[in-house]
Amino acid sequence: MKLFNQALLARQAWRLVAHPDSLCARLLKAKYFPNGEMIDTVFPTDSSPSWKGIEFGLELLKKGIIWRVGNGDKIQIWRDNWIPKDSLLKIMGRRTGCRLRWVSQLMRRDVRDWDMDLVRKIFHDHDVEEVLKIRIPSRPTEDSLAWHFAKSGLFSVRSAYKLALRDFIQQQGVASSSSSMDGGRRVWKLLWSTPVPQKIKFFAWKLATEGLATMQNRMRRNLESDSTCRLCGTGEEDSYHAVVACTKSRALHDELRKDWELISEDMLVRSGPEWFLLLLDKLDTEARAQVLFCFWRSWHLRNDAVHGKGLASVEASASFVKNYWSSLLCIRHSADQNEKGKSQVVSTWQ
Ligand SMILES: [Zn+2]
Repeated sequence: MKLFNQALLARQAWRLVAHPDSLCARLLKAKYFPNGEMIDTVFPTDSSPSWKGIEFGLELLKKGIIWRVGNGDKIQIWRDNWIPKDSLLKIMGRRTGCRLRWVSQLMRRDVRDWDMDLVRKIFHDHDVEEVLKIRIPSRPTEDSLAWHFAKSGLFSVRSAYKLALRDFIQQQGVASSSSSMDGGRRVWKLLWSTPVPQKIKFFAWKLATEGLATMQNRMRRNLESDSTCRLCGTGEEDSYHAVVACTKSRALHDELRKDWELISEDMLVRSGPEWFLLLLDKLDTEARAQVLFCFWRSWHLRNDAVHGKGLASVEASASFVKNYWSSLLCIRHSADQNEKGKSQVVSTWQ
């Protein structure tokens, strides 16, 4: 949960940035960054524990905070985030010999537009394209800070957490090792946009990144000496075995198929270490949501049998999932009818 913590701490840091006049922000400013902005500060190593927490949050905040260009007086061309795109919100490189420092120096104030010749002269083509996409306000406006990963520009823990996860996954190289998908990015987007409760998405993410406490993973960490499945004894318990191949999981899939058009067992092939992501990539939204529900419950059912009281029956688990599913459909349906759209459904499912 380190990443979620980071998102929470980023919220604290955001409050300080968004409300620089609050008492807390002023006290911290006096102590740690008397001559500048918090967002630019390099912190002393002997800072207090609570401040260290904010620093950790600030690390994440810095990846998603962006200057909205007004008059360009506050924004440093080469240092600040001001280029709205998917990641790395900065200028990527500079042609040699440019001494300009402020974004305002790139504008023609008389016509409130970019100085095209100058922009083309100092930036590389990909940056030129991005800069020229930014619209300069027609009236004099101050530059302002916003959170890039929400349309409103306001920070949310949820979007920060997503950003932290995305970065973490990219660092792990999981996404980039995916050969058949465009860098794997699309499929992560699919996963996080599937209309299932957040806890199920989180489970799916763990499944995809080998983060479940399977026997195989426990053996890797020297917590077990044998990785054979304790339930069926027919093979090593890796994540595929746990949610697909194990007899108990298969029984749950079959039980669900009595009412659901769950994808057939033939489609659940172990196509490689990324079998799960490759599978998600093939499915439409509804099938994907059902598969996530199914795997999530399979994992719990087996855990209950191995580590718990073993009271959960396959039938009861299946009807639990089906009821859960129908109630979510109901919520989605009524939200659609209210025409308030997605946001309400999402918040109900958190
Ligand atoms: Zn098994």
